[in-house]
Amino acid sequence: MRTSTYSAAALRESYGIDVSAVDMGPAGQLGVGAAWARVPPGARSVANQHDEIETWVIVAGAGEAIVDAERHPVSPATVVQFEPFETHFVENTGETDLVFASFYWRDGERAGRAAGGVEHRRFDERPIFVFSSAPTPNGDLHLGHLSGPFFAADVFVRYQRMTGADAWHITGSDDFQSYVVAAARHEGRKPAETAAHYSKEILATLESMDIDVHQYTATSRDAAYPAGLQAFFSRLAASAAVAPRECPGLFDGRTGRYLYEADVAGGCPTCGSDTGGNVCEVCREPNFCVDLVEPRATASEARPREGRIAQYALSLRDLRADVAAHHRLGRVPATVKELADRVFRRERLDVPLTHPSQWGVPPAEPGLDGQVIWAWVDVAFNFLHSIEELGRRLGYDWRADAPRADWKIVHFLGSDGTFFHPILHPALYRLAYPEWTPDIDYHVNEFYLLDGSKFSTSRRHVIWGKDILDPSSVDAIRFYLALTRPEGRRTNFELSAYEACVQDTLIGTWQRWLNDLGARVETRYGGLAPDAGLWTPEHTAFLARLDTWLDALTGSLGQDAFSLNRAAEALHGIVEDVTSFARLQAPLAEIEGWRDEARTTIALELAAAQLLATCSAPVMPRFAARLAAALGAPAPAEWPRRVALVQPGTRIDLAAQVFFGGSPEPSPLLPWLSRLVRGVLRLQEDEPVHDKTLVSLGMESLQAIALQYQLLDQVGADVSIEDLLGSRDVAELATLIASGLAPEVVTAQAQEVPA
Ligand SMILES: [Zn+2]
Repeated sequence: MRTSTYSAAALRESYGIDVSAVDMGPAGQLGVGAAWARVPPGARSVANQHDEIETWVIVAGAGEAIVDAERHPVSPATVVQFEPFETHFVENTGETDLVFASFYWRDGERAGRAAGGVEHRRFDERPIFVFSSAPTPNGDLHLGHLSGPFFAADVFVRYQRMTGADAWHITGSDDFQSYVVAAARHEGRKPAETAAHYSKEILATLESMDIDVHQYTATSRDAAYPAGLQAFFSRLAASAAVAPRECPGLFDGRTGRYLYEADVAGGCPTCGSDTGGNVCEVCREPNFCVDLVEPRATASEARPREGRIAQYALSLRDLRADVAAHHRLGRVPATVKELADRVFRRERLDVPLTHPSQWGVPPAEPGLDGQVIWAWVDVAFNFLHSIEELGRRLGYDWRADAPRADWKIVHFLGSDGTFFHPILHPALYRLAYPEWTPDIDYHVNEFYLLDGSKFSTSRRHVIWGKDILDPSSVDAIRFYLALTRPEGRRTNFELSAYEACVQDTLIGTWQRWLNDLGARVETRYGGLAPDAGLWTPEHTAFLARLDTWLDALTGSLGQDAFSLNRAAEALHGIVEDVTSFARLQAPLAEIEGWRDEARTTIALELAAAQLLATCSAPVMPRFAARLAAALGAPAPAEWPRRVALVQPGTRIDLAAQVFFGGSPEPSPLLPWLSRLVRGVLRLQEDEPVHDKTLVSLGMESLQAIALQYQLLDQVGADVSIEDLLGSRDVAELATLIASGLAPEVVTAQAQEVPA
């Protein structure tokens, strides 16, 4: 027998609390580890996740165990158990030490199940606020912007909503950035005019890319905003880490104007790259303008001079442990933790929170006339303000000045925002709301290049969103950006590669298969989905593969492993897999003795098409809705748990659909069919009919029967009266008829048209 008695003297600091190991005998004997732990009054442990199952037996004190923002009271004689990967920490809410014994062991099967499932992070029961970094309204959005946070946030929210979660996409226009002042000066306008102009353009571009935004806050045009921001700043100013200090500053050599951000350029003091003021896009580290190597003013020839200025400044180093604890709670990329480690190694890290400017919101505190609250403080508050505004419209009492523990925030940002959003902002929140534990996931993208170099408005090296997006291209753009956007590395956009992807992949592979599948359903099953009949081992294996694709998509669109690159690859994977399956099964398609197997093949291809429609919905909502409609279903709204067959007897309308690439090439049969239609209806020879339905041309059922007979007689096409008098125009009917005929019949008939 062994005994272990709790001894405060044996404790060591670990994960923010005091811990001592308990000897449970030779290692591996029981496979159970044990430890005593003490949390002093008012303290909390650092949140963590691990693969072991962990059980606590509370022996003294009182507190709360927190799992995914849910609080559970604990006191002596309470036992709690954490499943693998549950994010947990403990807080002492009492007056005396909270003491517990912890036992932990590995169960590989249970850990594997938890890692594979989505349940170990409680997303479905919490409001999820998905932010895409608010754009600076100093220009419209180009493809580089559009490949980044907005698009990813839109897909993320669409997927979460399909799983039943309450998720909202929040963005806005970050009006008070100094870059707006620079753009306004350049354009000879007032900053407010420039902000309002581009804010409107940006919103229109987001709409043209089918990016749904549920809350769009334009900070300079929101009446409640300035007072809210001032109150937030007052909380910061009241904290010990923020105070007015004499800071070094950079000034115009001639006019003495204060220079920062867009006003100044020079060598990054950390990596030497050419950079603007306050942050370097290459190494992502902050600078303070005076430390730039050979700084120069962007709007003046005079050499800038160094001086001193009283500003509110934050001693960010004091918050080092808080930022690290924040980085253990949610999904935080390694590049963010690495940058935090780098900047916190600096001996001093005093960040000015106010700057001299005429554009922005001044602090309510007196003393620093002519200064405004820095735009990056503004952005931190804007998120909370936007949640409050959204809540007001939805009927929830969410308040910017009382953020809640159960809010799940997911933030999409570009790598140049790494210092601000995941490092500076949690420090500000810690100071403003010490009681709040913000639970934030971060998704960071790198730069998207255009033909090998950065998008640049000034060099006109740019493709504007509005120039390439229209209703017929938006799905293709979304697919291509999903496939190539810069996740974890810089990637490149080339127009020719995009066009090749549309032609070869989306039209040449996806659309060709869907049209061909539709034509086979028309000719062999009268346009109705057949029931699956007899199954071969290949059929069963293909169904299992579809389930694997569904799992891959569930993983790559879910919160832990979110990646549009992988999601787009998996969508294409479905199509590659089904086209090769269809090719291998084709030899049996027309053989009478194997017809029960042949219809199983078609049923499985339709199941693949249905899976493609559903799983495309977050990435390509238009395509998904149209494909679903062609399969007789409403727009996909629920994420499937498993692959399902299309209900037998459903009318399938795939043969003539144009999903990608705009208007279709007219069928070579169109002139012949137009002549036939004019003949039956006794119309003039030059009467245009290609874009009209037969009903709108005045065709009645007896005439339709006559036309049906001629189609059968002349080319052997069996077209139903329902199709003839349906919603297709004559051009679409020509495509439909051609899809059911052998190519040589189409060519022969096309050549028979008299001049
Ligand atoms: Zn740098």
